[in-house]
Amino acid sequence: MTVRGNSVIFQIRKIIYEKFNDTDSRFTNDDVFEVMKDNGMANSLTIDDMEPYFKQLHDEGLIRPIAQNFTTQWYKLFEKVEKFNCKSCGQDIHLGNLEPRVCPQCKTAI
Ligand SMILES: [Zn+2]
Repeated sequence: MTVRGNSVIFQIRKIIYEKFNDTDSRFTNDDVFEVMKDNGMANSLTIDDMEPYFKQLHDEGLIRPIAQNFTTQWYKLFEKVEKFNCKSCGQDIHLGNLEPRVCPQCKTAI
């Protein structure tokens, strides 16, 4: 994964933590992408470019897809998300409660 790809993943995790951190409610890829656009974080990305990042977050055990309608995908969290600061690299990271306590950037245990 590229540096840019990693930063997109970190942004999506942060948005989920700040806006959608509720295991009872669902959110869509469009919801997350709108926040990225509002914050000027989407750059030249399109909603289609986001698909592999959401797939990665599913593979990593943060979110699970529950429904799809054309390009809109609904997700729920497996578990609530917690914020950590990695003492090794200084990155703020956001991990689901079921995920390994490992910094996604430098791979150090939290
Ligand atoms: Zn780190």
